[in-house]
Amino acid sequence: MEFETRAIHAGQEPDPATGAIVTPIYASSTFVQDEVGVHKGYEYSRSGNPTRTALQECVASLEDATHGLAFASGLAASDAVLRLVLPGDHIIIPNDAYGGTYRLVARVFEPAGYAYSPVDMTSLDALNLAWRDETKLVWIESPTNPMLTVVDIAAIASFAHERGAVCVVDNTFATPYLQRPLELGADLVVHSTTKYLGGHSDVIGGFAATNDPTIAERLYFLQKSLGAVPGPFDCWLVLRGIRTLAVRMRQHCANAHAVAAFLERHPRVERVLYPGLPTHPGHTIAARQMRDFGGMISFLAESEEEAVALVARTRLFQLAESLGGVESLIEHPARMTHASTADAPFAAPPNLVRLSVGLESAEDLVEDLERALVRSATAAGT
Ligand code: PLP
Repeated sequence: MEFETRAIHAGQEPDPATGAIVTPIYASSTFVQDEVGVHKGYEYSRSGNPTRTALQECVASLEDATHGLAFASGLAASDAVLRLVLPGDHIIIPNDAYGGTYRLVARVFEPAGYAYSPVDMTSLDALNLAWRDETKLVWIESPTNPMLTVVDIAAIASFAHERGAVCVVDNTFATPYLQRPLELGADLVVHSTTKYLGGHSDVIGGFAATNDPTIAERLYFLQKSLGAVPGPFDCWLVLRGIRTLAVRMRQHCANAHAVAAFLERHPRVERVLYPGLPTHPGHTIAARQMRDFGGMISFLAESEEEAVALVARTRLFQLAESLGGVESLIEHPARMTHASTADAPFAAPPNLVRLSVGLESAEDLVEDLERALVRSATAAGT
């Protein structure tokens, strides 16, 4: 079945008890047993809940995975996945990884005895230089948040496999509609479902998917042992979002193309980071491994002051953290989402502005940016 069909039907049979077309919110912490150990598949909602099962089957299907596990947040999913390796092992992460991933690895895992190296993964030579005998896990993000760096997932996955490590891809920016890392050779996919999968800025959630039954079994053990599971209402919200994922992503991409083209021509914009632009260094790889280029754009304003002024001047693009919802958002990574990376190998450039291009009219969005850029210029006295 095609992606659009699976988004609406995978894991979402009409409710057998009532015929309800929409998967019910099974708001129950526990489930009755007929005899000790004899039950209808559920015992206690930390270890399993029917609304969560529907979500897990649906996202696994979209990622072409045999197994999927939902978590309370993207970082809870990342935490469980990183625990697949052990203290003493070495982890490689992108040198411009999402700030929360960096913080988790550098401030939680490293003090617990794990080693890590931040690496520029656009270069296999750099990966090779950082490699150690203890390297057990390579963490990819593509495109990255917020620099929109694109890396060759297939090449890095086979590099990792040749050396006995697992390869994980944070697919939050791309979504399974645009990019399927398991098909490209990765062992695991991780999501913040808070973003495009939920799609409406009303839920926090995470996900991990794999085709490896041994990894899946260990992850399920970690899911129930760590206990960072999403509640049934949160699962239901993500499922509802996913039903329109394909149409939303098509529009996010179309709008982002229009906004990126406008920004690239604007004299007050120093540089636009959008993988859909032929000038982007990762454009060729992105064109090969993605269906389209996504709804996230970053750009360099003329100065830090200009960037900070600009993000407060747009009206449709609202100043807020997060991304992937129907409404357009603008933010200043250095002082907002990526402030925690100030001490990291990667620091967001002070003049960087990040856009999450929503589903409003592209014309209105361009006009909003045009007005804000002109006013920034006026405020700067030019
Ligand atoms: N991965 C990426 C690329 C993200 O952008 C985020 C959040 O912004 C996360 C993971 C963490 O997800 P959550 O905020 O749902 O914990």
